[in-house]
Amino acid sequence: MNPQVKIVYLDAYHSHPIAIAESAFADIERQVLAARVCRICGLPYTEETGNRPRVTQNICLVCYLKKQQDTYTFVGKDETESTSHYTTSLYLDVKGIVHYSTTSNDNDPEESIEMTLRFYGFPVPDSIEASGEQIPLYAGNWYIHGDVRNQSVVVIEFIKRIDDYRHFPFLSYKQGEAVLLDKRRGNTRRLYLAAKKQHEASKDRRGYYHLHGREIGNFSETNVYYIVSDLASAEYDAKQQDK
Ligand SMILES: [Zn+2]
Repeated sequence: MNPQVKIVYLDAYHSHPIAIAESAFADIERQVLAARVCRICGLPYTEETGNRPRVTQNICLVCYLKKQQDTYTFVGKDETESTSHYTTSLYLDVKGIVHYSTTSNDNDPEESIEMTLRFYGFPVPDSIEASGEQIPLYAGNWYIHGDVRNQSVVVIEFIKRIDDYRHFPFLSYKQGEAVLLDKRRGNTRRLYLAAKKQHEASKDRRGYYHLHGREIGNFSETNVYYIVSDLASAEYDAKQQDK
């Protein structure tokens, strides 16, 4: 195509291309961007300081929160993303889990475990060495077994379900390191065994286990991890107080 020609569309279905002079395009683009409004309230966006920044492709913060029945608390833009053309906004749900929206679409907020851990200052490893090979630990495969809002250590687990079933639990120390939870040796083994014992000991005469005031039907590894979070946090906090 002639480089001095640009194609624009003014119809909703892009079925009627309009060829315009390339020289006029920049001006038109500027005008279009300057005229942007929220598709719900029809009001122009305010920048960072105002209460109506654009948080999705075409929705302002006020309308977006209302659309979610005001169940989310806006916590700000994701500052870790610098290269992207789009901006990501973060929200907390009632449980303190981070959800995000992006200016690349108008979708409802999506939960992110990695963003949640990062938000509260818990490190997430990006790979692990197992039997001589380096295994990447991709985002989207993490689970939290602990209370990120109140604990200083939580067990996080990477679970890979495709190809081969593998899972790697770690102890993640707030503003510190992530340590593989090794059940066979070292300090993590000691914590793991103590947690397992505590889980077993919580069994009542009817055969139910008890954890955080809840009755649980069966013994599970996940519950052991929750207890490891409790024990590791208590130990860590006690050590901080001694300092
Ligand atoms: Zn709006």
